[in-house]
Amino acid sequence: MADSYRFRCGECGHRTAWASESQGEQSIENHYARRHPRIAPGGMVEFRKGSSGGGTGCLIALAIVVLLLIIASRN
Ligand SMILES: [Zn+2]
Repeated sequence: MADSYRFRCGECGHRTAWASESQGEQSIENHYARRHPRIAPGGMVEFRKGSSGGGTGCLIALAIVVLLLIIASRN
């Protein structure tokens, strides 16, 4: 449950390690600050169901709330 979020950069495809939601947000914000300092953080959020017995392969790409906000703000 703790490491269920992974963020993907909307600019260059960089992906953070699996982490908690807040850690992942921090990672992608740091990435943007270093690599895309003039661009607001965006991209995809991947969420995996990590509960016991689930195994891998249960990936849900949530995305997009952040991305939509950014697109909207650009127009
Ligand atoms: Zn990037």
